[in-house]
Order: sequence, then structure tokens, then C-alpha cells
Amino acid sequence: MSPEQINENLSSIVARIEAARKAAVKPAASTSLVAVTKTIQAGDIYPALIAGQRVFGENRVQEAQAKWPALRTEYSDIELHLIGPLQTNKAREAVALFDAIQTLDRPRLADVLRAEMDRSGRNPFLFVQVNTGEEAQKGGVLPHDAAALIAHARALGLPLKGLMCIPPAGENPAPHFALLARLAGEHDLSLLSMGMSGDFEIAIRFGATHVRVGGAIFGERIKP
Ligand SMILES: *Cc1c(COP(=O)(O)O)cnc(C)c1O
Repeated sequence: MSPEQINENLSSIVARIEAARKAAVKPAASTSLVAVTKTIQAGDIYPALIAGQRVFGENRVQEAQAKWPALRTEYSDIELHLIGPLQTNKAREAVALFDAIQTLDRPRLADVLRAEMDRSGRNPFLFVQVNTGEEAQKGGVLPHDAAALIAHARALGLPLKGLMCIPPAGENPAPHFALLARLAGEHDLSLLSMGMSGDFEIAIRFGATHVRVGGAIFGERIKP
């Protein structure tokens, strides 16, 4: 995709976020755009950086490690979010690289993140991923196990700030966003990461503080 096209897409998404916030009855105090750059090469990330975008999401630790340290030497105020599943054996690299980890979904991962934060002195803020659709193949804690995981993370003193979800493909996302918002309210968590290219405006209506948009900015990815 041409730099001009990426620029145009980015401005259009930013404008649509603003419009959705204006139209929402009770939007979050702010809504950050997490520009999702999985599979996108550094050359296509530059137009977004030059346009001032600073919050980015990647779903694989190794791919992020290959791209972002170099970009960070040029843009020191980048905020990088991990939005894909995290294996405990990658926790060290993840804590070293990311500013936020959106996919905390089990007690053992909380324990390992605690140890890595203590060891490194880095404290990326965390979201618990909730599997709102209770899909077998999807990451995230089941809704009825969320309270216990949140309590566990808090007992460890982890910087837990919010919840994240990925609604089942092809379903109306609204009930999933509503459930996530309700859980966040019940547990006094202020951040809500929900909404992607196809549904971020709906997520904003339900109070999203972070929307994760990839394809609508950088072009549709070729499905593996
Ligand atoms: C890829 C991805 C996105 C972005 O999806 P688009 O439909 O390209 O906007 C958002 N969240 C997660 C967890 C992803 O893996």
C-alpha cells in the first residue's frame, strides 16, 4: 500500500473514532487507537509514525522484536501493546519489549509476569483477556473465571488496568462488548480494549478506551 493511502486510511479511522465518541451516549473519557501492525513491514509503519501515530499493537513477540527496537531508536515515545497469546517461555522478552500486555489469561502467566517484572524492573500495564464467546480455540479466561484471575493478579500487585476481548467472528459483537464493560465495572478496572476494523464504532458506544485497528489502516492481510 502507498504511504499516501496509509495516511488517508489513518486519518479516516481517527475521524471515525472521534465521530463515534461524539455520537455515543456515554463514551470513555478517552479512546486510544492501537494501530495493529502484525505482518506489516517497517516501511509501511513509517507513514503512520510520521503522521503522529504512537500506539501500536503486535500479536507475536518474535515478530515485534524484529521490528520495533529499531523504530524505537527513532521514535522514543512509541507505546507498544502485545495483543496476541503469550507463552510463559516468552514472558521475559515480552516484559522487556512491550509497554502493555493485553492477553493475561491464566494464573500461571500472572506468576511468571510478576517474576519477570521484579527481575527487570519493567512494569508493562496489563489487561485480562476474557473469552466472552467461550470459544474452545480462543485465548482468554472464561467469564466465570475472570473474578478469580483478577483477584490473583491484584494479590500479586500486578499493574492490572483493564479487560480485553475478541468477539466470535460473524456474531453480533454488541453483547460481548456489553459483557466486557459490565465485568470491568464490577471489578473497578478503567480500561476496555475492544473493537477492531469491522466493529470499533460499536465498541466505542460500549465505552472502549482502546480500539485495535489493523486492516482498515494498513490494508487487509493475506489470510494464512
Ligand atoms: C489482528 C488483530 C486486530 C486487528 O484486526 P483488524 O480486523 O485487522 O482491524 C485486533 N485485535 C487482535 C487481537 C488482533 O489479532
